Amino acid sequence: MHPYWFDVQHYINGQFVEGERHFEILFPATNEVIGRAPEGREAEVDAAVRAANTAFAYWSQMPPSQRRRYLRAFAEGIRAHEEELALTESLDVGRPIRENKASYVARVAANIDFFADFAVMHGSEAYPMENGYINYVLRQPIGVAALITPWNVPMLLETWKIGPALAFGNTVVLKPAELTPIGAWKLAQIAHEAGLPPGVFNVVHGFGPDSAGALLTQHPDVSLISFTGETVTGKAIMSAASRTLKRISFELGGKGATLVFADSDLDLAVETSVRAAFFNQGEFCLAGPRLLVQRPLYEPFLERFLARASTLQPGNPLDPETTLGALISREHVQRVRAYIDQAVAEGATLLLGGGPPHLPSPYHEGNFLSPTVIAHVQPHDRICQEEVFGPVVTVAPFDSEEEALAVANGVNYGLSSVVLTRDVGRAIRVAEALKVGTVWINDFFVRDLRVPFGGMKQSGIGREGGQHSLEFYTETKTVCLSNRS
Ligand code: NAD
Repeated sequence: MHPYWFDVQHYINGQFVEGERHFEILFPATNEVIGRAPEGREAEVDAAVRAANTAFAYWSQMPPSQRRRYLRAFAEGIRAHEEELALTESLDVGRPIRENKASYVARVAANIDFFADFAVMHGSEAYPMENGYINYVLRQPIGVAALITPWNVPMLLETWKIGPALAFGNTVVLKPAELTPIGAWKLAQIAHEAGLPPGVFNVVHGFGPDSAGALLTQHPDVSLISFTGETVTGKAIMSAASRTLKRISFELGGKGATLVFADSDLDLAVETSVRAAFFNQGEFCLAGPRLLVQRPLYEPFLERFLARASTLQPGNPLDPETTLGALISREHVQRVRAYIDQAVAEGATLLLGGGPPHLPSPYHEGNFLSPTVIAHVQPHDRICQEEVFGPVVTVAPFDSEEEALAVANGVNYGLSSVVLTRDVGRAIRVAEALKVGTVWINDFFVRDLRVPFGGMKQSGIGREGGQHSLEFYTETKTVCLSNRS
């Protein structure tokens, strides 16, 4: 048995539950088996939804300030387990532990804290009328929320949904990604220790299609679905959820562009675009895998970008010196490499990487890919259109602002983009013209939990964050109170 071993369980109605069938958990950096997780099916999904439905009766009636007490204890527990969660997240995902310790776990806890407070401060509204009547609008929890999450930043996205769902009075069944079940199990343990009442928060492990995920999306007692994952999965869930008209919120794929204008600060541009390209091994919906550089800066920028990307250190994610982690699975590496191979076969030039780095045993068995930079691509090439989801970036020069915008916007996705320029007027103009849900100017991946988050086009439906989460996770009811009796 591996020195790290996890016997992951479901968490249903306040109890940790074993399953009959299991699947293996692999450490992406070595492909060693580090545990097993139960495969939930009808029985587990049904039990979890039933428990959540029962718990809704009292959780939804609890004043938000009381719910906040539970959620604060939950967030406090996450912070208290920071070391352990940083480790398990690296084992789950393959991400360098230094990133988890730097800010990741703190952000996971902040997702719970923020919405616990927000729900206390925001809610119902009143509209007095001239005739003495008062309209008041009640904000009420909806019911059982199914939260379905991907493997790339698991705990961050799980709490991004758990926080508002619970704070606004709904109860939860979480179906984490089958490739990364450890974090959700740890979160359940922490919620349990924090004393969250039974049934309020449930976790059912398992697969997507024809399994726990799909069963949740069809369950008649699930009222809303918050899903983050691939666009194609979003389409399947939308179709399943339409049968019972569930409320949906989708955060889907992305194909961000990083626009580097000639007046940019070169150091800042290189540092920011390297982060945008390679954070989380490029397995990041908000990544900037398309680098567009204005021609006068193209050569000096490229030289510096390649030099900086070459310094990224792949290897054991648990080593604090490692700066580039492993991809999630062997199959995923093959998928990413197929994009690279096709691009090169069609005439693109590989400037950096393209294959696995040389690593000692046991990491040579892991799912590593060197930072990869590809030039001489066309905007309509497959590698420039589809989500590659790896440490792979294409780079191309542009002449005018219009040209850069046409290329940046010329994809089916619209999640995020980065603009690098010292010209404030240009920054404002370009941000307005980009067809994406979030634009960062001279930085990358700065998140403020108050602002709307989500994607345009096929990157999603709806927005979450602050008031937008309140709107998604609550129903309104208008009551018109006359002054007659
Ligand atoms: P995925 O769509 O394959 O799986 C996501 C989750 O959905 C998993 O838990 C899976 O089991 C479940 N699932 C799959 N099919 C299902 C079905 N038919 N019914 C119900 N559930 C189903 O995505 P992934 O490969 O885990 O994650 C990578 C994707 O997530 C990328 O496309 C990435 O861009 C996207 N993503 C988007 C955001 C965002 O905020 N927009 C954030 C992170 C990741």
